[in-house]
Amino acid sequence: MKFLKSSLSVFALGLLLFMLSACKINSVANEDVMARTEKTPEIVWGVKYDTRLFGMMNVETSQVEGFDIDIAKEITKEMLGDEAKATFVEVTSKTRIPLLRNGNIDAIIATMTITDERKKQVDFSDVYFDAGQSLLVKKGSEITNVKDLNSETTVLAVKGSTSAINIREHAPDAKILELENYAEAFTALQSGQGVAMTTDNAILLGMASENPNYTLVGGNFTQEPYGIAIDKGQTAFLKAVNQALEEMHKNGTYDKVYQKWFPNSTDGKVQ
Ligand code: GLU
Repeated sequence: MKFLKSSLSVFALGLLLFMLSACKINSVANEDVMARTEKTPEIVWGVKYDTRLFGMMNVETSQVEGFDIDIAKEITKEMLGDEAKATFVEVTSKTRIPLLRNGNIDAIIATMTITDERKKQVDFSDVYFDAGQSLLVKKGSEITNVKDLNSETTVLAVKGSTSAINIREHAPDAKILELENYAEAFTALQSGQGVAMTTDNAILLGMASENPNYTLVGGNFTQEPYGIAIDKGQTAFLKAVNQALEEMHKNGTYDKVYQKWFPNSTDGKVQ
């Protein structure tokens, strides 16, 4: 009897703790972001930390840098004023939607393509960058086009990305090795675990610029319009983000940020 009683109280305590933690997760996830920023002028952005040109951790300054980072900073300023804080949290292609939906971040700005499939889980801002999927290979490679990827070849992609899905369609016979993030995928390419790596052209260009033995081949075989993902139900926040983006296009801020990261190109620019 005594044993039963104590087991029951342990169970009751466990249940209570579980309910309290569920409440906490729920309350953060359901919080109205716009209302919170009025009290505390801060936006928590989910960004890449390993993607040159978009979101890359600079180990010397311990600051994350890139086009996505600067756009996030400017949106924060435009929405909440010069003193507002843009806070950055690392996401990967695989973790970004779960982190958003759990309320760990307010928005994702991380080379993320707007797709119908993703729209079932999150809302997207207007397009803020136009990319397209391509291939990166070692210079002199026999692979010059996505059509060259056959059953004898392995192509490297990142989990949770559209690239991993699209490549199955465009090179249905190729073997695909999916890695956790872009740093790992590029290391796998360098060590010969695959003959090509596939993702958006702009991401691959960032890698090629740092590693002159590698080059993009075959042009783009998909369109990858980037959007900022926001949790469903945060309609006021989504509207404010779109208004900020529009204002940045009008007042030249978008162009300034674009020129800083892509000085030699007009690709990807959204007018
Ligand atoms: N833009 C593609 C995507 O959203 C590839 C880049 C990435 O993985 O973030 O999946």
